[in-house]
Amino acid sequence: MSAVGADPVLRVAIDSKWYRPRDGEPVEAVRDLAFAVGAGEIVCLIGPSGAGKTTTLRILLGIDPAFEGRVAGAEGAGMVFQEPRLLPWRSVEHNVRLGLPRARRGRDLDDLFARLGLSAWRGSYPKALSLGMQRRVALARALADGPRVLVLDEPFVSLDDAAAAELRALVVDTVDRAGMSVLMVTHNVAEAIGIADRLLLVSRRPARLIADVPLDRPRKSRDRAWAEETRAGLAARHPDIIAV
Ligand code: ADP
Ligand code: MG
Repeated sequence: MSAVGADPVLRVAIDSKWYRPRDGEPVEAVRDLAFAVGAGEIVCLIGPSGAGKTTTLRILLGIDPAFEGRVAGAEGAGMVFQEPRLLPWRSVEHNVRLGLPRARRGRDLDDLFARLGLSAWRGSYPKALSLGMQRRVALARALADGPRVLVLDEPFVSLDDAAAAELRALVVDTVDRAGMSVLMVTHNVAEAIGIADRLLLVSRRPARLIADVPLDRPRKSRDRAWAEETRAGLAARHPDIIAV
C-alpha cells in the first residue's frame, strides 16, 4: 500500500534541533529529518537509543516548539508515552476520560473499554494493574476522543512477550477498524516488521533519516520466514542501526 498520496495526514520536516542546557555543552538531537504519514498507514520509526526519536515525537506533537523546521497534522493526535503516566489517585475510568476535552467528558465509552478488555477494571486504580494493563489504560486514554493520528513512543517495552503481543494486536485491530494513522517509535525491529506498512530508519544522534522502507506484504500474510528474511536484509544493509 502506498498510503502517502498527495495529502498525507502527518508531515514532519525538522531541519535541526539543538538542546542547549544551561550547565553543559549544546547537543544536536535531530538534523534533516523529513517524512510523512498517510491516511490509515502504520509507520515505525526505528533508531538507536539516544538518537533523537522521543525528541522528534515531542516536536511533532507541539510539546517542544524550540526547533528549526515545520510540522503539520498532529493537532488532536492521541499519544501514548513510554511510561503510562496515569494519575494514581484516579480510577481507570477517570484516567481514560482525561483524554477527552471537557465538553465530551461524559461520552459513552463502553465500546472502547470493552474492545481493550478493560470493562471489568473501570473502577480500579492504576496501582492494582500490571504494567501491561496500565499501558492499555494509556492506550484507551489516547483513543478516547477518536483521533485521526495515534503516536506511540516505545509502548511495549518492559512487557513480557505475551503481554506485548496482546497489546500490539489490540493496537493493530483498533487502527485498522478506525482507519487511523499511526507513528510508532520502537527499537524492536521484529515488532516493527510485524505491524508496520513502512519503516523509517534513523541514524545515531543527531537523528537523520537514513532509509524509508515500505513493507509491501499485507500484515495478515506475514509469516515467520518472511519476517526473518526482511530483518536479515535490513541488518545487512544497515548493520550500525539493526543488530545482525
Ligand atoms: P531517543 O528517544 O532516540 O532515545 P531522545 O530524543 O530522548 O532519544 O534524546 C536524544 C538526545 O538528546 C540524547 O542524547 C539526550 O541525552 C538528549 N536530550 C534529550 N532531552 C534533553 C534535554 N531536555 N536537554 C538536553 N539534552 C537532551
Ligand atoms: Mg526515547
